[in-house]
Amino acid sequence: RVPIVAVVGRPNVGKSTLVNRIVGRRQAIVEDVPGVTRDRVSYEVTWSGRRFTIVDTGGWQPGAGGLSARVTAQAELAVAAADLVLFVVDATVGITETDAAVAKLLRRGDKPVLLVANKVDSAAGELDTGELWSLGLGQPYTVSALHGRGSGDLLDAVITAL
Ligand code: GDP
Ligand code: MG
Repeated sequence: RVPIVAVVGRPNVGKSTLVNRIVGRRQAIVEDVPGVTRDRVSYEVTWSGRRFTIVDTGGWQPGAGGLSARVTAQAELAVAAADLVLFVVDATVGITETDAAVAKLLRRGDKPVLLVANKVDSAAGELDTGELWSLGLGQPYTVSALHGRGSGDLLDAVITAL
């Protein structure tokens, strides 16, 4: 069976941009408007001769109502089906309450998680990762999904974790 990697996080952190970067084509829909990816969307990826399926999800917002609750439920289903979870946060914003709530659910879950700090577009952005460590999900992988910075190291870590 091909292992499944789910990409989750609150809206607008760059999940779909990261999926595009990893897939190597612009397939996931990237939007400035949060919450565009409503359903789970899967793509096949090969890295270092290893094949896996990557699943893009909509914004995960624990406790949200309305449409956001349905998008959140889809993200939770994606995690349940996954062998590995990429939890994406926006390093330029820092940890929000929603990030902390998602992190808590992931810590309580039984799935391995890699913490991805996105939007680190330059070396100057590599500053203070102390706040990210406080999420209790181990080492943060700093990347720029937009420019590709750090994505090779992240993919190496994905392959190692699978
Ligand atoms: P999603 O809602 O988590 O899927 O986020 P998107 O992938 O749709 O991206 C939301 C916004 O963040 C878009 O305007 C992206 O261009 C922007 N974005 C995504 N990744 C990066 C990045 O690495 N650096 C910067 N500066 N912007 C990014
Ligand atoms: Mg998206």
